[in-house]
Amino acid sequence: MKKVAWSAGHGKNTPGKRTPDGEREWTFNNKVVIAGMAYLENYEGVQQIRVDDPSGNTDVPLVTRTNEANAWNADIYVSSHHNAIGTQWGNHSGVETYVMEPASNNPLSVKLANQIHPKVVNAMGLTDRGVKSANFHELRETNMPAALVEGGFMDSRTDILKMRDDSFLKDQGEAIAKGIAEYFDLVKKSEPIEDVKQETPQNHTDGNYKIQNGDTLYSIAEEFGVPVNELQEANQNVNPRALQIGSFINIPNGKYVAHKIENGDTLYSLAQKYKVSLDAIRDVNKGIEARELSIGDTVKIPVVKVSEATPKPKPNMKTVSIVEYLKSIDVDSSYDHRAELAKKHGIPGYQGSAEQNTELLNIMRGAVKDAFEPKLPSGVLRYGDNGNDVRMLQQALNELFFKVGEVDGSYGAKTKDAVERFQKVHDPYHVDGVYGSRTRERMNRLLK
Ligand SMILES: [Zn+2]
Repeated sequence: MKKVAWSAGHGKNTPGKRTPDGEREWTFNNKVVIAGMAYLENYEGVQQIRVDDPSGNTDVPLVTRTNEANAWNADIYVSSHHNAIGTQWGNHSGVETYVMEPASNNPLSVKLANQIHPKVVNAMGLTDRGVKSANFHELRETNMPAALVEGGFMDSRTDILKMRDDSFLKDQGEAIAKGIAEYFDLVKKSEPIEDVKQETPQNHTDGNYKIQNGDTLYSIAEEFGVPVNELQEANQNVNPRALQIGSFINIPNGKYVAHKIENGDTLYSLAQKYKVSLDAIRDVNKGIEARELSIGDTVKIPVVKVSEATPKPKPNMKTVSIVEYLKSIDVDSSYDHRAELAKKHGIPGYQGSAEQNTELLNIMRGAVKDAFEPKLPSGVLRYGDNGNDVRMLQQALNELFFKVGEVDGSYGAKTKDAVERFQKVHDPYHVDGVYGSRTRERMNRLLK
């Protein structure tokens, strides 16, 4: 198990740590850390903690941060910051990553920084100012390899445009996570099976059903959602009045495909093969998990409709970034075009600030805006639950980058997995995959 301690520099109200327009450095660092921790949960064998206050209300003293990481025996320590020269806007720019000086005494920190740094430069699309060394507390007082990333200058006219765009901060966090994964040689977790996208037509050729005692042509037709006459046509050599128990009958395309169990088949492999969810198979094969799968048995596989036409670009309602949103609906997302849209929608003096971008995003989302604002349900939700509350939870998880995939109102494996990933990061001693008051409170802090 590799233990990673994260620190988002400062607190929300730390004096001085602000852009010339008053934006707080911590709010940038926080978004980077949230995205980085969420992304790192995609890998096997990682444990993570955050040593700053995730609400940002307290600027946890540096000695408390490094003590916590040392006491926890972290394997590495990563601190997220954004640079500043002073209190005026300037034209300086770029990303730098620090290790404790002299670098030659800290080869593992250098290795870590070298994995992280170029990826951050790339993610931010800013000047590469290199890996540097300095005598910073978080680098000096940590007992493990440590790197401090300055993801851009918050008093830079160029860099601030990136920092005001959440998608860049998310990319920066993911870049750091990828660097950490490379440093440790981490292996990605396999994807939960649920919500696998249906993109290719199903193969219906092996539609064989083994006739059971008591079956009639009519009952089989009903079971598989096929008209009786089509079933008869597909099995012209079968005498409907004398069905042979144990013999096989062809099931033409209906609501279900009949899959004949072969050696090595599992429910999981079937779900993958037919690109349906595990739950969808369970639903139409009552009690299937209680019994052994025997070779030659039939499992009903629900047929997922494949849409005939190429779908139109679907607006990305989950994003919190106007740029991502515009891209998702194939609209020019450049600064100039956003300024034009802002003017058109009555946002005065557009300069690409976070507030203006959010306002524009909300206007652009239009009528559906309300449904997609992060709001959290109040009850307890767990695996197997369905409905609007689950939908709200899924939207909020997506907003926080703990992706559940499709927002479908069904608390299945992917949603449980996302809740667990969130809990591992934000409530590591209470990881149960159940959404209750603790999880709600922690999500609320981040959504505010
Ligand atoms: Zn800082």
